[in-house]
Amino acid sequence: MLDDKDRIFRNLYGFQGWQVDAARKRGDWDGTAKLMANGPDWIVEQIKAAGLRGRGGAGFPAGVKWGFMPKQPDPARPNTLVINADESEPGTCKDREIMRHEPHKLIEGALLAGFAMRAPHAYIYIRGEYQAEARRLQAAIDEAYDKGLLGKNAAKSGYDFDLYLHQGAGAYICGEETALLESLEGNKGQPRIKPPFPANVGVWGYPTTVNNVETIAVVPTILRRGATWFTSFGRERNAGTKIFCISGHVERPCNVEEAMSIPLKELIERHAGGVRGGWDNLLAVIPGGSSVPCIPKSVCDDVLMDFDALKEVQSGLGTAAVIVMDKSTDIVRAIARISYFYKHESCGQCTPCREGAGWMWRVVNRMAEGRSSREEIDMLWDVSKQVEGHTICALGDAAAWPVQGLIRHFRDEIERRIDHYTAASAVAAE
Ligand code: SF4
Repeated sequence: MLDDKDRIFRNLYGFQGWQVDAARKRGDWDGTAKLMANGPDWIVEQIKAAGLRGRGGAGFPAGVKWGFMPKQPDPARPNTLVINADESEPGTCKDREIMRHEPHKLIEGALLAGFAMRAPHAYIYIRGEYQAEARRLQAAIDEAYDKGLLGKNAAKSGYDFDLYLHQGAGAYICGEETALLESLEGNKGQPRIKPPFPANVGVWGYPTTVNNVETIAVVPTILRRGATWFTSFGRERNAGTKIFCISGHVERPCNVEEAMSIPLKELIERHAGGVRGGWDNLLAVIPGGSSVPCIPKSVCDDVLMDFDALKEVQSGLGTAAVIVMDKSTDIVRAIARISYFYKHESCGQCTPCREGAGWMWRVVNRMAEGRSSREEIDMLWDVSKQVEGHTICALGDAAAWPVQGLIRHFRDEIERRIDHYTAASAVAAE
C-alpha cells in the first residue's frame, strides 16, 4: 500500500485549503525557479527517466511527446501546451478532484512542462459541466498571477509564462485531442485527420502538445523527488503512482492514489471496502473507464492495475476508472447503455463510427431482451471489428471494445436470453 508520505496528491479530499499558502505547506512552488535553472532539456530527460505515461487514457510516454516539440520555435508559431481537462469518460472523476483541491499542482506543472517544451503559454480546456471547478481553477490562476508565480518572470525564474482557462460546452468528443484543439479555436469540436500531428500543426497552426491534467500535475513532484523515486512504484514501463476512481457496486466508492500495478482485488478491498456482498459476488469490472472492455471475475482475481497487465487480458488501464459490477447487474443491458452513450457522442464524421455505433447499440439492446439469434452475435462481433481501427479517432474503438468484451466473456449469457426468448415465442405461437 502506498505510504502517505509518497502520495503526490495529499489534499485529494479537500481536507486542507486549496489556496497557495496551503499548497506551499504541501511542498508546491518550492524551488520552482531552481528546477527551471537546470534547463528545459533537463526537465524533459527527467520525465523520460521517470517513465511517466500519459494519465488521460492512451498512456503515451510524456517525456517522449514533449521531445517532439521544436527546440527552436518560430516566434510567429509559438510552441503551445494545451492541458486536457475535458474529463468526460464515464466513471472518471480524478482530474475534477485535482482542480478542486490541488489546483496549484496543476498550475506549477503547467509552468514547468511549458518551460520544458519552450512554450510561452498554456491553455487549460475544461469541460463545460465543470462550472465550480472552473471557478476554483480561475481563482487559483489569479492567485498565482498575484503572487508572481505566473506572468512576467514567473516564479522568479526569468521566464515569462501565461496560463489561460477555456471552458468547453459539454461534448464528450472534445476530450479527443484534435477535437479539443478545434473547439479551442472556436470551431465545431470534430477530430482532425492525423497527420499532421499536433506537435507539428496544433492549435492555430502552432506546434502543440496536449496533456491530461493528472499528467501535468505530477510533474513538479517528480522533478523534486527524482525519477528514481517515481520508478520505485509500479513496475517497468508502468511506473509511478496513479489516481484510481472506484465506483459501482462497492461499499465505499472513492478516488485514491495508489502505486501502479497494484492488484485490482487489493485496490477494491483496501480502499473501497470491497465488493458489495463480498468478492464472490463480483460479476465483472470495467477497469479503465467505459471505453475499455469489461473483464469477468475470474480475470479480476489476479490482474494488476497497469497498462501492460490489462492489455494482456484484452482490456486497458484507460483513465483508471474502475467500474465494479456485482451479480445483480444485467451485463447485457449495462453494455447496451454504454453503446448508447457512444452512439450519442459520435461526432458523425466517419461512417463506421456514425453508423456502426448506432447499429451496435440497437443490436445489443435487442440482445438484452433475447430478440436476436446466435448468428447475429457473430455478425455483431464482425461489425465491431469493422468499426475498430477504421475511424478518424479513437471513439470508434471506444464504441467497439465494450461490445467485444461482452461477447468475449458473456456470450453464454446472450445465448441464454436468445434461447429463452425463442422458446417463449414458440410457446406463444402455439
Ligand atoms: Fe467522429 Fe466517431 Fe469518426 Fe471520431 S470516430 S471522428 S467521433 S465519427
